[in-house]
Amino acid sequence: MPLVYVALGSNQGDPVAQLRAACQAMNELTGSQLLACSSLYRSAPMGPQDQPSYVNAVVALQTSLEPEALLDQLQRIEQEHGRVRKAERWGPRTLDLDILLYDKQVINSPRLQIPHYHMHARAFVLYPLAEIAPQLQMPDGVQLVSLLENCPRGDLQALPFFIQQPDARSDLTPHG
Ligand code: ATP
Ligand code: MG
Ligand code: MG
Repeated sequence: MPLVYVALGSNQGDPVAQLRAACQAMNELTGSQLLACSSLYRSAPMGPQDQPSYVNAVVALQTSLEPEALLDQLQRIEQEHGRVRKAERWGPRTLDLDILLYDKQVINSPRLQIPHYHMHARAFVLYPLAEIAPQLQMPDGVQLVSLLENCPRGDLQALPFFIQQPDARSDLTPHG
């Protein structure tokens, strides 16, 4: 079954709760199973600076959904968590779910670019991704570790909360 990496972000409402709920919702998608979740991280906003900082994470999802069907489902989950699409780019949002990688596929359709077009420049994507997939190789053969070398960690900060690890499927309680 295809292995997909999804980046999560939120800076409105209760970001930690929304990221946890989104993970549960992804795990419940048809033909899908969450395999790993990174720690949660805090990052400064991109673009407009007059908005709260973000909470970010990356998860590994095994899924039989085709890429566009998966995007449909992720957009439904975003909407169910109060996402309102506005004209302002990178404005505040309750939940953002971006597909980073879908196996080794390269996709450039009007709705979908995979690998995610800007992942190489985003510390809040690369560091959580490296936590769950340190040996990862991009579809073009570039190692994730070399992307990290060119993307300083900046003010990215690990938070003392976790999303439950899928193999220890108890409940989603804060840690520490
Ligand atoms: P960014 O993509 O720079 O992180 P964003 O996440 O805020 O910005 P959205 O408003 O969530 O952008 O999505 C805009 C459009 O991006 C979506 O309607 C979707 O069709 C498209 N898109 C293209 N590639 C992807 C991808 N890999 N994952 C999710 N959406 C994508
Ligand atoms: Mg995004
Ligand atoms: Mg998005």
